[in-house]
Amino acid sequence: MQISPTQRVPAHTAASSTPAAAAPPLQDRTPDQLKDGMVVTVKGAGSTDLAVARLIQDGAQYMARVANTTMGLATVEINYKQADDQKALGLATFQGTKGWFALSMRSTTGLLEGIDRLRTTPWASWTEAQRQAFVQSNETILHEAAHVTLNGYTRDDVNAWRDADRNIEEGISEVATMTHIRDFILDEFGVDTGDLTDRISQSTSAYTRFSERLQRLIGMGTDGSKAAVASAASAVSDTVRADQRAGELARRIGLNLGGETAPAAILDEIRKTIPGFIGEVNGTRTKLMELQAALVDHKAGQPLADVDAFLADLRAKYDRNLPAFGAPKNGTKPLD
Ligand SMILES: [Zn+2]
Repeated sequence: MQISPTQRVPAHTAASSTPAAAAPPLQDRTPDQLKDGMVVTVKGAGSTDLAVARLIQDGAQYMARVANTTMGLATVEINYKQADDQKALGLATFQGTKGWFALSMRSTTGLLEGIDRLRTTPWASWTEAQRQAFVQSNETILHEAAHVTLNGYTRDDVNAWRDADRNIEEGISEVATMTHIRDFILDEFGVDTGDLTDRISQSTSAYTRFSERLQRLIGMGTDGSKAAVASAASAVSDTVRADQRAGELARRIGLNLGGETAPAAILDEIRKTIPGFIGEVNGTRTKLMELQAALVDHKAGQPLADVDAFLADLRAKYDRNLPAFGAPKNGTKPLD
């Protein structure tokens, strides 16, 4: 099915006209309610799969809405066997300046079966295996949607995304997914997945190598509360040009730990250290720890006497003899 595939609707506009929030839970909507406001082209969906198509658009609009930006998704393919063949749950990229993603057969099945089951069986009566399959499928939507949700969709924005650090892209998309999945499922289906289901899902999430470290960095730029981390994850993932995310993380850490007068040179050193830290390069964690401690001391009225000398010393201690770190770029092949 497809309705007006070239049109992109700002998420906040869509939210006020055909929102998940105002509409009944997805599983209870009429065919007309499911069709109303559909702008994403969903390939591979039969007429009975309307709810899945709607869910995909709702997920992409949700990710845009919580980041206060617009949806970039134009086309989705479901039952995408090539994803399964790569052991991926989904794939995402841009076609020109329009977002595209594909859901594996596994994820598509998880959604179809889950939506059907919601109509007949209370969530509490599902097996944990059924709950996890459904949550994971919804996570795939949010994760792939995060990949194609940007600050803007000009050629420059998309080119910057292609040239950006892939480790950070994967990690930040996953942090945005995991910090919002429980709220999204509540918003979309009226179902609270519950603490244990949420924790199992979080414990097995994708790209933990990158996402754990990114989540900690994001947390250092906030008061540490769940809501603040979720909000910051969306902001960094989806409202900052893709090649400027490390700088934005450093800015947020600097503001929170060091205050308005935090030395710019320290923030710049944090920015330069973040890609290596995400990529688990030795030395980067201790260097970041010392940089953050210096910010806290600065704010507490014990600023460094000589910032340049401090940074030169850190570089001598931690940067020397490190292997060159070149993070992979997003590039033109679909991300998983
Ligand atoms: Zn990904």
